[in-house]
Amino acid sequence: MSDILFDKIALIGIGLIGSSLARVIREKKLAKTIAVSSRSSETLERAHTIGLGDSYTTSAAEAVRDADLVIVSVPVGASGKVARDIAGNLKPGAIVTDVGSTKKSVVEQMLPEMPKGVHLIPGHPIAGTEHSGPDAGFAHLFEGRWCILTPVAGTDDEALKELISFWEACGSMVDRMDPDHHDLVLAIVSHLPQLIAYNIVGTADDLETVTKSQVIKYSASGFRDFTRLAASDPTMWRDVCLNNKDAILEMLARFSEDLSSMQRAIRWGDGDKLFDLFSRTRQIRKSIIEAGQDVDVPDFGRQLAYTEGHEEE
Ligand code: NAP
Repeated sequence: MSDILFDKIALIGIGLIGSSLARVIREKKLAKTIAVSSRSSETLERAHTIGLGDSYTTSAAEAVRDADLVIVSVPVGASGKVARDIAGNLKPGAIVTDVGSTKKSVVEQMLPEMPKGVHLIPGHPIAGTEHSGPDAGFAHLFEGRWCILTPVAGTDDEALKELISFWEACGSMVDRMDPDHHDLVLAIVSHLPQLIAYNIVGTADDLETVTKSQVIKYSASGFRDFTRLAASDPTMWRDVCLNNKDAILEMLARFSEDLSSMQRAIRWGDGDKLFDLFSRTRQIRKSIIEAGQDVDVPDFGRQLAYTEGHEEE
């Protein structure tokens, strides 16, 4: 059990990430009070029924009143509006953070809205699943996962330390990065794989010579892992694409070049080239397992990962 870190934490957005935070904050007793806010009364009522907080409101501005820590967990395209809504009610000295999957655009949207004396420290937990909404969360989502903080110039050291302690109490390991660098790294490790999955599943869906029932019946041959990614929330991923445009386009260009090179190797029967690449990539998988970021069981560890609740974004 951890000590109370904050008197009041306000959670703005109570979907997968917000509700996982609510659960871990409660379980580890990280706050005396949790204020929950969601835009729709349906989501808010669901959060209330599950018992995720101590107070509930559809008004983000109301929720942040007297809060020491405010965590914004909404699609990244909505960050600016949320920042404008809450700005007038933020307590001097409060820490405002977020969990958005892109960071440069979040800084651009939120920083200009923050009143003097409020500490904006954007963040991104590298943990998630393809599920959404308040029922999808679980307390150990962040356990053993990295959380990247992207503090802006002039960030208060004490506030940063408090936020690092918070994420560590949630079970995460914390790294610091420049927002641009974060967006570039995430474009390759998260955003590009997601787009490839959307593309493959879309292509299979469009095929006329292979029936949909055959695609589903034989999906265990690799396709299934892509469908898990491709089932992720469309709003969240639309916003990621629109808010990390440059880095994603750069990675897509690199990817297309490498794909053409692979295409050429297959066309000309260059088995050595294919073998070398496939051997190199096998090593990457080994390194991920050695780093504790997946488990080495058949089926890409999905069975175990689900029971442990350790799915990736
Ligand atoms: P989610 O389960 O779909 O929940 C989204 C929450 O944001 C809900 O409370 C929703 O409110 C609210 N919301 C949606 N659109 C909004 C808008 N335009 N204005 C204000 N509130 C809005 O999403 P999530 O998976 O928790 O993702 C939240 C954030 O975490 C995103 O920025 C995402 O990039 C980031 N993230 C996600 C993952 C992941 O794997 N899912 C991992 C790491 C980080 P209503 O339901 O009331 O409309």
